[in-house]
Amino acid sequence: MWRTLAACFVCALVTGAMAQSPAAQAWEALAEGTITDSTHPVRPGDFRTYNVRVRVALDEQTGEGEITISNKDHPDTPPDRYFWRRGRLFQSNDAGDDLPPANEADLSPSTLAMIHRGLLAAYWRERPENFHAEVVGPRNDIKTTHFLIASNDVLWKGWSGQNFMQGPHEIAYLWRRFHHDVLGSIYENVDYDGNTVLVRRGGDIVARLEFADPRPIEKVRTPKGDPTRDAAMVIPPEEFVFRDLGGGLFACEMARANARVFVVEFEDHLLVFEGVYTTRNAETLAAAVRDRFKKPVKYFAFSHIHGQYVGGSRAWSHEGAVILIPPTSAPLIKDVLGAPFHLREDSWSRGPRESGIEAVAERWTCEDERASVVIINDKESDHTNEYFILYLPRTKTLLTGDLLFYRPGKPLTGRSLALAKFIEKQGLEVDRCVTTWPLEWPGVKSEVSGDELRAAANPK
Ligand SMILES: [Zn+2]
Repeated sequence: MWRTLAACFVCALVTGAMAQSPAAQAWEALAEGTITDSTHPVRPGDFRTYNVRVRVALDEQTGEGEITISNKDHPDTPPDRYFWRRGRLFQSNDAGDDLPPANEADLSPSTLAMIHRGLLAAYWRERPENFHAEVVGPRNDIKTTHFLIASNDVLWKGWSGQNFMQGPHEIAYLWRRFHHDVLGSIYENVDYDGNTVLVRRGGDIVARLEFADPRPIEKVRTPKGDPTRDAAMVIPPEEFVFRDLGGGLFACEMARANARVFVVEFEDHLLVFEGVYTTRNAETLAAAVRDRFKKPVKYFAFSHIHGQYVGGSRAWSHEGAVILIPPTSAPLIKDVLGAPFHLREDSWSRGPRESGIEAVAERWTCEDERASVVIINDKESDHTNEYFILYLPRTKTLLTGDLLFYRPGKPLTGRSLALAKFIEKQGLEVDRCVTTWPLEWPGVKSEVSGDELRAAANPK
């Protein structure tokens, strides 16, 4: 049963339904069983066995999961909670900190991270670079696939028992070397037998869990933790909320990215300004944009060539948008669109691939009843050789990318001052500046009035 449901998830993801699907694909699986604790024996060979209830929950869309373990003999004790984020296990506290995961009696955190086959499958999808598959044999006419799997600081060996590479759901057995501080070099293995998961260490059973079939839940979200330790930043769909700034301009403020992305709504099409780090995030954003505006994205532009802003160009190309770039950004965009994405396939790599790129040497304008936009190529940004700022003349609003760090009462310096000088030189009437990044920064405002900008650029 688990296999059937999981296969559905996987196939939905592979066919790209994830970006289209409005519903998060999350599930939970409950188990009853035992975990041993041999850490404080009263005589040689002594150990205790706890009766436990285990809940594994996973959100396939964002790669966030949770494992909770309660002791059935002590129902009043709160369960131990572990968080699983795209394969990495951690614990947390009320402040949402990233704490190193502790052992659960004889179960190590690295084994807990693999305690359900669905976690293994999700890890395969999230971090395929950590799986190495080899076909071995034939032995007795049977070929087997071996997998080397690096996960949470340990190296597993997995067996699929198939004569060709089937994928993670075919892995029935994991094995790893294990050094016990007292008992020396032993091994540990995880045996997935239907819904039963058996963990053995040196031949002794340390955990036996009987899982029920997984059932769908709405979503799983993990505490903030330390995002710099994650393999990638994944922005959950609920963060794509569009705030109306007037004149057809909408801002989407993403806490996780500490950044904004902008949408300009014209009569019959949209322009998206700024990337969101990755194709995966851009595909989630594209689904949210489709939902909210029900108009095609005709243009995608980004302020400058740093990864956060360019990231997602592939998704917008897939959506059929023309990418507006300064002339010198062309080689980078060609590399991005031509890059192999074998490890993490995206809508663009699955094709069809017809891209439109339009170079803007100085200015580009687009105007109708609903909105009016001017993209200006700033060659004096003091940050990158060429840099797009986006101006909306009807509301005198300027989108400043990552050029503006305005601290109330303090004069502008560096690239912020260069931006203010450039605005003056261009003769732009500005009533409001809105940054892409940073959204939150100690002492820095991310929305600045024209008067504040001019006063800080020309201190008395
Ligand atoms: Zn930058």
